[in-house]
Amino acid sequence: MARGKVYIIGAGPGDWELISVKGLNILKKADVILYDFLASKELLGFAKRGAEIICAGKADGLHILEQGQINKLLYEKAKKGKIVARLKGGDPLVFSRGIEEALYLKSKEIDFEIIQGITSAFGVPESFGIPLTRKGKYSSVAILTGRKSNGDGLDAPKADTLIYLMAVANISNVVKKIIASGRDKKLPCAFIERGTTKQERIIIGTLGNIVKKAQKYAVKAPAVFIAGEVVRLGRRIYADKYKLK
Ligand code: SAH
Repeated sequence: MARGKVYIIGAGPGDWELISVKGLNILKKADVILYDFLASKELLGFAKRGAEIICAGKADGLHILEQGQINKLLYEKAKKGKIVARLKGGDPLVFSRGIEEALYLKSKEIDFEIIQGITSAFGVPESFGIPLTRKGKYSSVAILTGRKSNGDGLDAPKADTLIYLMAVANISNVVKKIIASGRDKKLPCAFIERGTTKQERIIIGTLGNIVKKAQKYAVKAPAVFIAGEVVRLGRRIYADKYKLK
C-alpha cells in the first residue's frame, strides 16, 4: 500500500491566487481535501477528479467538525495511503490549530509536511498599502488575539504596530487595553474586513473613535484590527481604496 501523507497548507488570506505554488501543486494531486471555512473556496476547483472534499468548518461559533474529529480524519485517510491536503486560512500555524494537527500526526507516526501561507495579519493590511514596519521609524510588530474567550489575557505589548486577529466581537475591550497601556487616543487604527477579497473594506479611525465607527459600519468577522502610525501610510499609496472613510 502506498504511504499516505498529510500536507498542512496555508491558503493565504482570501484571494485564492495568494496560495503558494507549492501548496497549489499539492492541492491538485490530493486524494482528500479537508478545508476550513476561511480558506478560499475557489481553490477547491483545482481538486482532481474524484477527490474527496470535506468541510471542516469553523465559522465563528459554528464548528462542523471538532478538532479531535479533524485529527482522526487526517490520520485515518493518510493511514489508507491517501495524499491529504489540510487547507487552512492564512498561514497554518498563525492562530490556528495546525500545530495540534502536526503533533497528533507525529504521535501516530504519520508522514506530514507544513506548507506556509500568507497570514492575514500581514497580507490584509498590506493589501491596503499599510506596511507593518518602516525603516528608521517603526521597527516592531506584535500579533495578538482579541478573542473574548481570552478574557484577561488581552494584551497590548510595547511595539510600534499592534495587529489583532479575532477582535471584532471584543473590540471595545481591546481598545481599552491599548489605551490603558499608555497609547494616545489619537493613535491611528483600522479595521479591515475580508481583506484581499472582492468584499474587502477598510474602516479607518483613531483609538478614540474606532469602536463607534465599527458599530456604525457594522464591521463583521473576519477582520484584522491594526493600530499604529503605519496606518497613515496606506492612504498615500492606495488613495482610491480608502473611499469609504
Ligand atoms: N491562520 C489564519 C488566522 C486564523 S484566525 C491566518 O494566518 O490568517 C481567524 C482570524 O483571522 C479572523 O478572525 C480574522 O481576524 C483574521 N482573518 C482571516 N482572514 C481574513 C481576511 N480575509 N480579512 C480580514 N481578516 C482575516
